[in-house]
Amino acid sequence: MRIVLLGPPGAGKGSLASLIKKNLSVVHLSTGDMLRDEIQKASPLGLEIKALIAHGSLVSDDIVTQLVKSKVIDNVATAPKSYMLDGYPRTVHQAEDLDVMLTKVGTPLDFVIDMETDFDVILQRLVSRLVCRKCGDIYNLNKKAPKIAGKCDLCSGDLYQRSDDNEETIRTRLEVYVQTTQPIIDYYKKQNKIRILNGNLETVDLFHQFAAMLR
Ligand code: ADP
Repeated sequence: MRIVLLGPPGAGKGSLASLIKKNLSVVHLSTGDMLRDEIQKASPLGLEIKALIAHGSLVSDDIVTQLVKSKVIDNVATAPKSYMLDGYPRTVHQAEDLDVMLTKVGTPLDFVIDMETDFDVILQRLVSRLVCRKCGDIYNLNKKAPKIAGKCDLCSGDLYQRSDDNEETIRTRLEVYVQTTQPIIDYYKKQNKIRILNGNLETVDLFHQFAAMLR
């Protein structure tokens, strides 16, 4: 299975991806996670990326496309057969580049999930989101609090709040989503690849909706 998870920040792409990964053994490729790894390295590129993400702006198409290419195309031995892309593509240009890359190696996308989510749900989720520094598991202080405060239920790693999960940056990210990422939905509609899921649902229900769609 080769799919894209599309939806505004806070739609629950990462949480759904974690259930799909666990239950269906599909590899989760998140460009946000790849970029945050780059920031951790504190390389010159990492510093550049850090400033863009802090503001809620997008990183350049070339950088993210290269990151994705390195995971799914460049190394045939390590490239996953079954994967979901989360956070990529985010511009029509990236969607076109992805199509070119995948067509070249004869492995086109199967479908694209569009997670439609209301603004108030997004805001409430993001301002109370915590992420595990070690394994990336996602928590929410209101809906899915960790059993021990500040510690991941799965690996006991430290939980932290992403620096871009503040109200001002969230608003910028949502504006960028509407202007730059939403046009991708029309791009994939023309290819008849869009499947709609209700991003307002809790993650488990969303996963059931996803699984039913595969039948
Ligand atoms: P969210 O979907 O919750 O906004 P992500 O973790 O997917 O969070 O991305 C965080 C940030 O990383 C984005 O706001 C953007 O700055 C950058 N980013 C991630 N993926 C891409 C991409 N495909 N193109 C450009 N920038 C990206």
